[in-house]
Formats: sequence, structure tokens, C-alpha cells
Amino acid sequence: MIFDSHAHINYDGYSEAEREELIRNIEGSGVSYVLDVGFDVASSRVAAAHAERLPWCYAAVGLHPHDAAGATDETVAEIRGLAARSGVVAVGEIGLDYYRDLSPRDAQQTMFRKQLDIARELGMPVTIHDRDSGGDTLRILKEEGFFDAERVAAFPPNPETGIPDARVLLHCFSGTADEALAAIELGATISIAGPVTYKKNDKTREVAARIPLAHMLIETDAPYLSPEPFRGKPNSSPFIVFTARKIAEVRGVSEEEIENATCENALRFFGIRD
Ligand SMILES: [Zn+2]
Repeated sequence: MIFDSHAHINYDGYSEAEREELIRNIEGSGVSYVLDVGFDVASSRVAAAHAERLPWCYAAVGLHPHDAAGATDETVAEIRGLAARSGVVAVGEIGLDYYRDLSPRDAQQTMFRKQLDIARELGMPVTIHDRDSGGDTLRILKEEGFFDAERVAAFPPNPETGIPDARVLLHCFSGTADEALAAIELGATISIAGPVTYKKNDKTREVAARIPLAHMLIETDAPYLSPEPFRGKPNSSPFIVFTARKIAEVRGVSEEEIENATCENALRFFGIRD
């Protein structure tokens, strides 16, 4: 059982033929579930449609920080409408990106907060994109009450560690192990992607080795971030096995154990199965 907790089947660079081929490849692979993650209104609509049509597909809807600048109240209203559709299990990907700075930082923060409002009101998990925000992402999550008693009370604590679960997913986590452990204590869940396989990335391997497995999900972020040995080529959900294998290696357990545990974690995190 494998759950790819973050992929873009909705990627706008695919032709329809390529997308259908990708879907058939996933169906012929060992991947059991995929979360198709929106990054703007159009891609969120496509993700929601995939979740409706494909039994193994769930969707997250949201506006990526790159697109915050052009967003209006109407954009937010559309995301809110999509978030309420069946098969849509999270708001995301939302957050801050000060690395590429494609939208002004104040616009990024405003859109981030408005979309956190949606998740709060609908009681939904959030999928967070955080790149070089220097702590602003966690600060805003705290200010918006995402680790408060009220938010946490809406979800059962982690069944294995008893740690409160705020249903906040830090997607493609790139911080240190100490930062990951601190975020977990707050109620966050850590998602590990393909870069854990990269030769120089001891930092993420340390994260993968040290955090409790019960607080870990795995993802591809396809078509981006292919794991080794496919680094630099287009990624797709079936390549997630290379990420699982690397995590298994650094933890000294079987690949199957990592796949099954992170799949169970994801089903619980997204409220698909408690
Ligand atoms: Zn993504």
C-alpha cells in the first residue's frame, strides 16, 4: 500500500493524451492512492474532477504563493467552493515562497491567511508549501490558531505517539531534523519527497531517520523532484518507491513497512479512513 501524498496529475504542461497515459501508468503500478494538489484555480478544478472520477485519487485545492499577486476575493471564493466538493480532502498547496519571490511577500501572506480561513471554517487539513520563509510560515500558522487547542480538539491525537494532530502537512520538508521534531511537537506532519535520495542531502536523510514514523508521509511532487536514479527527468507517482526505499535504508526497516505505515498515516491525515 502506497499513498503519494503530493503530486500534480493536474500539471498544465501535460497534453490530455499524456495525462491519460500517466493515469494508466499509476493504475498499473503499486501506488494505491494519490493526492492531486492544486496550485491555482484551474488546476484545483482539474484535481477536484480527478478525485470525482478516479477511485484512488483525492484532491487538495488552493492557490500557490507564486500566484498570490493576481488573486482576488473571487479567487478565494472559487477555492472555497471547490474545497467543499466530495473527494477534496485538503486545502493546498498554500504557504510562502521567498526563494523565488514570484509574488510580493505581503500578497503571499494575505492569500495564505485567507486560505487558512477556508480550512479552519471547513475543518480541513492543510498542505503547506514553505520555501525560505525564515519562519514566517510557522508564525502565520500559529497566529491563525492552527496549533491551538481548538483546532487540535477537532482531530484525534496521533494513535501511536499521542501527540496532538493539527492536520498541518509540511510538504517536501527541507529543514533540519531538529526543526522537524519541533514542528511535530506543535502538531504538524512531515512529508518526505525525492530529494531524500540525493547524494549530498544528508540533512533530509537525518530527518527521515529521526522523526517518528507515525508522523511521516511520503510524496513525489510529480512532475518535479524526481528521486535518484531519475533525477532531472520528469517525475511520476510510481517513482515514489525510490523515496520509500531510501527512507527504509536509513531507518533499517523494510521498504514495505515504510510504504504501509505512511499509507495508513495519509489515510488518517486526510480523513479518508480514521
Ligand atoms: Zn507541489
